[in-house]
Amino acid sequence: MTILVLHHTAGSLPSSLKTLQGQDPKHRVGVHYVVTDEVKPRVIRMVPEDMAAFHAGKSNWGRLEALNQHSIGIEIINYDGNVYPYSDAQADIIFALCAEIIRRHDIKPWNVVAHSDIAVGRKIDPGSKFPWAKLAKLGIGAAPLPDELKERLAHGHLATPAFFRRLLTDYGYAVGPDDAGLKLAVEAFQRHFRPAKVDGIIDVECTAILECLVRRYQSPAYRSAQVRP
Ligand SMILES: [Zn+2]
Repeated sequence: MTILVLHHTAGSLPSSLKTLQGQDPKHRVGVHYVVTDEVKPRVIRMVPEDMAAFHAGKSNWGRLEALNQHSIGIEIINYDGNVYPYSDAQADIIFALCAEIIRRHDIKPWNVVAHSDIAVGRKIDPGSKFPWAKLAKLGIGAAPLPDELKERLAHGHLATPAFFRRLLTDYGYAVGPDDAGLKLAVEAFQRHFRPAKVDGIIDVECTAILECLVRRYQSPAYRSAQVRP
């Protein structure tokens, strides 16, 4: 397993468990872990990590597609992570769970993704309220280097649509061939990396963040450093 996918359930704990345990014959679904929304959140283990679970659906990331075969999935109880915040207690337990999974499978920072990153235009979970920045500060997932971001923002460079499309593709996103496809991919990118404004419009800040990410994680130097034992 090389990818870690985060989701929100869009349903309550009882209804989500019913669906994820496969009690609904119409839906073939499953996931490795559920994080509850109780005052003291818990992790419920659903499917063993060495087995594929049906959480990603039609999906792409980098050169991979149909990511169920390649990914661990975590569902977090939240009706809509674009509307309702995740509690600090949930963030803490998500951090601990992700840290263990990343260590066990040696998952790279750029492969810790939202369902919305890998199913562009189809999924919007775990939403813009998901604590990506907080987790990145603790070493989970990808984020720009703060100094480099500051420098790029100071330059105020705006990528052309064609260049932004190339950067998104280099980073891992599957971008649809037309303008509408690009807008959806920009929205997915913003939901993860610039959640304060998710409007699908390429701006100076998005350009700076994406350039930093591609430079930091997709450069050959970084990748070869990562595979060294
Ligand atoms: Zn999902």
